[in-house]
Amino acid sequence: MKEIILLKYGEIALKGANKSTFEATLAKQIKYRMRKYGSFEIKRAQSTVNVIPLNDECDIDGAYEACKKIFGIVRVNRAVACEKTVEDIIKTVKECCGDMLEGCKTFKIEAKRADKRFPLTSPQICDECGGAVLEALPGIKVDVRDPDGVIRVEIRDEEAYIHPNQEKGAGGMPVGTNGKALLLLSGGIDSPVAGHMICKRGVKLEALHFESYPYTSQRALDKVGALAELLSEYNGRTVMHVINVKEIQEVLRDSCDEDYFTLLLRRFMMRLAQRCAQQFGCNALVTGESIGQVASQTMDALCVTDIVCDIPVFRPCIGLDKEEIVEISRRIDTYDTSVLPYEDCCTVFTPRHPRTRPELAKVIAQEERIDVEQLLERAYATMYTYEKQDI
Ligand code: ATP
Ligand code: MG
Repeated sequence: MKEIILLKYGEIALKGANKSTFEATLAKQIKYRMRKYGSFEIKRAQSTVNVIPLNDECDIDGAYEACKKIFGIVRVNRAVACEKTVEDIIKTVKECCGDMLEGCKTFKIEAKRADKRFPLTSPQICDECGGAVLEALPGIKVDVRDPDGVIRVEIRDEEAYIHPNQEKGAGGMPVGTNGKALLLLSGGIDSPVAGHMICKRGVKLEALHFESYPYTSQRALDKVGALAELLSEYNGRTVMHVINVKEIQEVLRDSCDEDYFTLLLRRFMMRLAQRCAQQFGCNALVTGESIGQVASQTMDALCVTDIVCDIPVFRPCIGLDKEEIVEISRRIDTYDTSVLPYEDCCTVFTPRHPRTRPELAKVIAQEERIDVEQLLERAYATMYTYEKQDI
């Protein structure tokens, strides 16, 4: 039996003149994501994409799971392809209905004819195929209103496809159709979720992590590297830049009032992130803040940190409760990695009583005690691209 994967696009089907650019980007994404699972042909046909294995070595189970994570696709479907003859369709339905209707007491057939020249009408196809199932699976009954299982028969231009219920795809827009942004990726729960939400809208992400080595460890960095890799399943290869902010933190500790540490550090992070974004062609920053979650995320604190940036800062978690963020992180499989208990640069030199209602003038007065420009230069010079260490 020849199995293939059928993918249905979402919003891009509604695009006008530039639809073909969206389709081409999506096809490129699919091709890239499939390479781990063998050789596949990616064929576009009537607002679906067919992913066709080219030989028996292809891992179709792996490919199917990966397809569920490709943005731009609303439905995924595993189908058996057969010749467009009544005989072959009936034979194939008989062969695969046992698997497709496993555990079902009732079923129905749904038929769709994209090729109107096919000799049977849709109701006739349903009758013929329904009869074939009743023959193959004694005891099963037809229920067109509320069946336990459905088998769909689609007559396309080149061949026919038989498939069970479709599953939900990842939705959103194909990655790369909406520009590039820089995700500030910590080891926590929120920032991978924020990245996922923005990436879903077609924005390609690069990541930036601030470490405080040697106060923070290689293990802690590798955990963030692992999160970037998990995001790659949606985003494609995710390059992660790393900047060391240890010196900034030491200078803040030695020269500024303790209750301002976190805020001042966040202003440094945003300035460095903006510089990094400009260098790598990213037009916005993405962070995982949610109003009021911690002291540095009160509205006043966010205003004080936001003001150092000239490019947009997207904060998709801003109105979500922690519980809602956790739910998403479980769904996208980043949760278990996020909760590994390693230190983060923000947990080094944490103030006992952080400011929750900072005044900008006072924050600026704190910065006047130190050489902000020089610290930025020196921190920026530590930037490198993360590579996974082979242990
Ligand atoms: P998260 O769960 O994402 O770590 P958080 O609740 O711990 O978030 P903060 O530590 O205040 O919040 O960080 C707010 C945001 O700032 C993070 O979501 C992330 O985007 C960014 N950020 C914080 N620490 C770092 C870091 N070490 N490297 C890169 N970005 C960071
Ligand atoms: Mg954090």
